[in-house]
Amino acid sequence: MYGNQTMPVPATHSPELDAPAAPLLEVFSSIQGEGALIGRRQVFIRFAGCNLKCGYCDTPYTPAAHCRVEKLPGSGAFTSWCNPVQLADVTAYVQSLLDPGSLCHRSHHSFALTGGEPLLHAALLKEWLPRLRTLLPVQVETNGTLPEALRQVLPWLDWISVDIKLESQTGEPTPWDLHREFIELALQVQCCVKLVVGNSTPGEELHRTAKLLQSLTTSTPPKHFDVVLQPRTINGQCSVSGRSLLQQQDILAGYGLDVRVIPQTHCFMQLL
Ligand code: SF4
Repeated sequence: MYGNQTMPVPATHSPELDAPAAPLLEVFSSIQGEGALIGRRQVFIRFAGCNLKCGYCDTPYTPAAHCRVEKLPGSGAFTSWCNPVQLADVTAYVQSLLDPGSLCHRSHHSFALTGGEPLLHAALLKEWLPRLRTLLPVQVETNGTLPEALRQVLPWLDWISVDIKLESQTGEPTPWDLHREFIELALQVQCCVKLVVGNSTPGEELHRTAKLLQSLTTSTPPKHFDVVLQPRTINGQCSVSGRSLLQQQDILAGYGLDVRVIPQTHCFMQLL
């Protein structure tokens, strides 16, 4: 069994026990359903807490006394760990997935550190990431508003999936300046910029986004990044018409951006 209520106390001192414990929401293995690493098998670590309040948010990100951990990938059967969670518990869980005796031991491509907003925990991540990265490469999924936090953990990240939060969807003003500063930093590693869009996303928002992204591609040599339009999911379904998505893609592609349209495919597969 996994979990901080069932793990034996190590006989020898482990540096993992010195690392700060984290408020988590979930730990599980699944197929990445969004963005540039779509289709990849990942170990998801979902951190509690967020600094934004997006209108479409479907994640109960408030820290709780317990987090849930899927016992077997895809089983839908969970065990419960007390928060905050020790790094040693997470690494033991992941090592059990990677153990040669496990059916999925060669399946995993990377970690997905997600939330909530994982970069709220940058101080903690500085201590977790060197150890996690000995197990698998690391992708972070972020709302792109905490550039100083990103600066602290950038050396340990392999991929960054960063959202641009459009006001038409979130109901909150888009933090354009923070997004620019964040993405400039994120381009030091492999970066995917994601926009959640709806039928009502105004063209002017997309033009402004495209101009921002285009201005980041003028360096020599040019920095490449993926741009993903993600139609908003409502009740497990893609809520945006194909016609709207084609028009939105046309706007961004018109600025020379490498743009793909990818819905949240894990919803269609009944996966976490
Ligand atoms: S950034 Fe993500 S977790 Fe935070 S409110 Fe927005 S959608 Fe929810």
